[in-house]
Amino acid sequence: MTAQESVRACRRCLLYEMGENADYQNLYAYIEGLDEEIRTPRPLYEERLARCKGCDLLLSGMCRACGCFVELRAAVLANRCPYDKWQDAQKRFG
Ligand code: SF4
Repeated sequence: MTAQESVRACRRCLLYEMGENADYQNLYAYIEGLDEEIRTPRPLYEERLARCKGCDLLLSGMCRACGCFVELRAAVLANRCPYDKWQDAQKRFG
């Protein structure tokens, strides 16, 4: 397996952990541009991503349940984890 192939299939990695690339930069620019009214507050966002990092469904920054990049899905306050794994984090920070 080449180094690039191992990066593509990084289990439990978020995009930012997979190095500098256009997808990562575009995604974070999009998140930064979200209206504050819809964007998830930082502490809750980080807690959501911590849940994803502990989830067997995360693969190369993507949730295999919903097909979303979790860093983007978690950035929108109204979004939910398809398996409700963010629910108690929502209660703590929401
Ligand atoms: S959104 Fe939910 S199901 Fe998907 S990777 Fe995150 S915790 Fe797992």
